[in-house]
Amino acid sequence: MVKVKTYLNYINGEFVKSSSGKTISCINPANQEVVGYVQQSNENDIENAIQVADTAFHNTNWRYNSALRCSTLMQYANLVENKKEELAQLLTMNNGKTIGEAHAEINGCIDGIRYYAGLSRNVFGKSVVPSEDSLGVLVREPVGVVGIISPWNWPAWLMIRGMLPALAAGNAIVVKPATLTAAISMELIEILSEVKDIPKGIINVVTGPGRSVGDAMVRSKHVDIINFTGDESTGVAISEAAAKTIKKLSLELGGKSPNVVFEDADLSKAVPGAIWAFLFTSGQLCMAGTRLVVQDTIYDEFLRTLKEEIEKLKVGNGLDASNHIGPVVSQTQLDTVMEYINIGKKEGKVITGGYRLTGKEFDNGFFVAPTVIAELDDNSRLVQEEIFGPVLVVQKFHTEEEAIKIANGTKFGLAGAVWTKDVNRAVRVAREIKAGTVWVNTYNKFYTEAEFGGYKASGIGRTHGEEALLECTEIKHINFDIKPTYF
Ligand code: NAP
Repeated sequence: MVKVKTYLNYINGEFVKSSSGKTISCINPANQEVVGYVQQSNENDIENAIQVADTAFHNTNWRYNSALRCSTLMQYANLVENKKEELAQLLTMNNGKTIGEAHAEINGCIDGIRYYAGLSRNVFGKSVVPSEDSLGVLVREPVGVVGIISPWNWPAWLMIRGMLPALAAGNAIVVKPATLTAAISMELIEILSEVKDIPKGIINVVTGPGRSVGDAMVRSKHVDIINFTGDESTGVAISEAAAKTIKKLSLELGGKSPNVVFEDADLSKAVPGAIWAFLFTSGQLCMAGTRLVVQDTIYDEFLRTLKEEIEKLKVGNGLDASNHIGPVVSQTQLDTVMEYINIGKKEGKVITGGYRLTGKEFDNGFFVAPTVIAELDDNSRLVQEEIFGPVLVVQKFHTEEEAIKIANGTKFGLAGAVWTKDVNRAVRVAREIKAGTVWVNTYNKFYTEAEFGGYKASGIGRTHGEEALLECTEIKHINFDIKPTYF
């Protein structure tokens, strides 16, 4: 059983209270029970953490010692692995996701930590001989202090995936995790504090409201990069706030990803593929396939099967392994999702769902029936905006050109998929969809070593893989005059 704890900020290798002395409670979205308390920090706390990180970056050998970075990250992976059951339980209780998904998220963290532990020993520059008397060495250097701001939907992995490339490249970090799910994030930091030999001050974590604490981090002149994952509107606010201090920005924002199904697709795979594309994490997934784009010739049959299969799924507390879908994360998120559903009821045709679940097991939680809405105008808010809940909209096409036009018909460009047995068409359509990831005959596959990120309003830069690490570096040209001296 997970114990309800009060988590402290982590600054300069110590756990400390916020200067306000106040805490915020993190609750279980399945029943609104408190799962932990975190510090309600303010601008002074984050500024203190940033100063500490800056000092540690300059005064320790972290940035020069790749073997130390590798061995400490490997230790961390082992410590997380030893506690993965408790972590998965707390993750489900803090976020609401099913226990199976929570295990997958924690296992992903362990895998990601090991990947970047290895990559920390592979930060290579290059050299150039521009003339006979000159040698240029191009060194990849850590930037300094990386500020990481993470969201609540995958609160373990999305915090860790921001931290890992920054640490592997030799930076010092300051982290501001999402408030709603800060208990699971801080549990992972408590485990990290057990790792021996990471110099004090290299890792600092402060909890508190994004609008004050996160904003102060973005505005600080001592933070060199902001690595942000979250809502598009917050990404815009961060871009504006960061402009005054000219810093690098990595923005991983929202999506409205198209899942394009052609008439020759294997429907035995495409139907479950379409269901899990939008229902994973109760639809609160940046890359969720929330627009089903189906060819007209199979439209009726596809929707009939989709409805039958969705109605077999069980919604409930994520800790009960027999449930397929958990609650949405908060009352605010529930209200937002219901507002969109109510618009959809007026503007389109509800194929299944369309209501909040009520009754003994649901009344204290934020449960929404999986909902599919069709016959909407392409300009409808439901088609254009990210809902972040278990809501799928359906769009119909006739030709391949129409499918591509519809797929690219929103401001987002995070992900997408194409289902067809025709390999030439698969490649053509995948090339034309403007998105950072396009799946063929599958959905939601992501890997630490494969870069991930958005086109258009879905973001700037890439996480995962080598690119994420390179984004946490600057490249410096050191030039040697090698003209021989003749006496
Ligand atoms: P959010 O409201 O933008 O919050 C994200 C983080 O930013 C939280 O830590 C939040 O703090 C903080 N924050 C809020 N306002 C801020 C400000 N003015 N300055 C600095 N920081 C601020 O997003 P969310 O609701 O947590 O997450 C859902 C969104 O994330 C969705 O749009 C989803 O698509 C996107 N997402 C994208 C990816 C990707 O890889 N592209 C992955 C996952 C999620 P508080 O928690 O204290 O408000």
